[in-house]
Amino acid sequence: MKRMVILGAGESGVGAAILAQAQGYEVFVSDMGAVKPQYIALLEQHNIPYESGQHTAGRIMNADEVVKSPGIPDSAPMVSALIKQGTPILSEIEFAARYTRAKMVCITGSNGKTTTTSLIYDILCRAGLDVGLAGNIGHSLALQVAEHDRQYYVIELSSFQLDNMYDFRANIAILLNITPDHLDRYNFEFQNYINAKMRITRNQRKEDALIYWSGDAVLNREIAKLQPAATLYPFGDGSAQSSAVSTQPVHNVAYIEHETMVVNAQDKMELPADRLSLKGKHNRYNSMAAAIAAQLLQIPNDVIRESLTQFAGVEHRLQYVSTVRGVRWINDSKATNVNSCWYALEAMTTPTVLILGGKDKGNDYSEIDELVKQKCHTLVFMGLHNEKLVEHFSALGYSPDGPKRYIDTHTLADAVRACYDAARDGDTVLLSPCCASFDLFKSYEDRGEQFMQAVRNL
Ligand code: ADP
Repeated sequence: MKRMVILGAGESGVGAAILAQAQGYEVFVSDMGAVKPQYIALLEQHNIPYESGQHTAGRIMNADEVVKSPGIPDSAPMVSALIKQGTPILSEIEFAARYTRAKMVCITGSNGKTTTTSLIYDILCRAGLDVGLAGNIGHSLALQVAEHDRQYYVIELSSFQLDNMYDFRANIAILLNITPDHLDRYNFEFQNYINAKMRITRNQRKEDALIYWSGDAVLNREIAKLQPAATLYPFGDGSAQSSAVSTQPVHNVAYIEHETMVVNAQDKMELPADRLSLKGKHNRYNSMAAAIAAQLLQIPNDVIRESLTQFAGVEHRLQYVSTVRGVRWINDSKATNVNSCWYALEAMTTPTVLILGGKDKGNDYSEIDELVKQKCHTLVFMGLHNEKLVEHFSALGYSPDGPKRYIDTHTLADAVRACYDAARDGDTVLLSPCCASFDLFKSYEDRGEQFMQAVRNL
């Protein structure tokens, strides 16, 4: 009997354990931290041995294979020891994909994964397909394969998952964009992170699709370099995009022309861009990527159109909270890097009060300078340490008492109150903090929930 050890008893680990047991492996689960009660219940229900709060080498190093949670870095001592002795380490998605014949639609990129994944899932559900949602959202792929296998999966893939994928084949892969992120896990080398993202194209064949944003210089360069076998489906701003790596322009399969979105992967579909339910330039890209994928799955254009115009969006991503005294409040707590805040600001159509701050990941705020100057009369800093924000935006002309103003706060209650006082009828208050949340909150979800609650209490 082969022995499978699972490191990390979260959604993916427990799903992998249940699938491994069903496939006849001897299974052991080990988690360095505390295991959530719902996962303990599942492990016990399936009689799967596990430990928490420790990794016992004697029960781990004898594994034939290991499934590792994407949250555990290769530098963790037990993982380095396994790598050193040559034990194969897989991601849960890689393992689960061995046991299903479903079509895989996989989405990666630095920003927009969850939104695009959810949108594609919405389209496929509306079309009546037998589809599961997996990866960073929904139930783990492994649990679904073990308990209720589907014909299609829409899977959000992080670079950490891709790191431990080898034989997995994406029938449709989407690469939304690549900007620096998570560099602490990649030896501070952007190229290492890029290489992880590009792994989504491994094992693809000509009959598979690679959908990508042709406006992204990194993606253009990497695709020219790697020459993936899949058929390419670029999307972007206009029908033809000049390319930095070729004299030939890229001909986009989906694009916006005269404020109309055109999607041409099967029967041509046209839709006025202002009817897209997800607002902002970034969401136009996400909508185009989703529409190409749906067309490639032969979904009728009227179903795609219905979803693109009605999809309610995903929590904490440019999520409308409410209007108070003529001021719209928007929760974009998931904007944990500067690039995603840029897109949020780009989508603002009124004067804006912007809440920024939290745990800075080495941010360069100059990327948003122009949009901040154009759109924000007030900046509210919300974090334990706001010094870097004060310094940067003072240099941009913001001050505690000028017409372009910043307000320095250290709690959510103070920040919301400051916004309430500063915003005028017709303005928008936008929480799009550019930073991780761990200084004042448990997670970006916690930050978003607390923000929405405070707004509703105004
Ligand atoms: P991810 O799952 O990749 O983190 P999300 O869909 O959760 O992406 O969106 C995260 C943040 O990134 C949101 O705040 C949103 O405003 C911004 N965003 C969404 N799509 C894009 C895109 N295509 N390009 C740049 N930023 C985006």
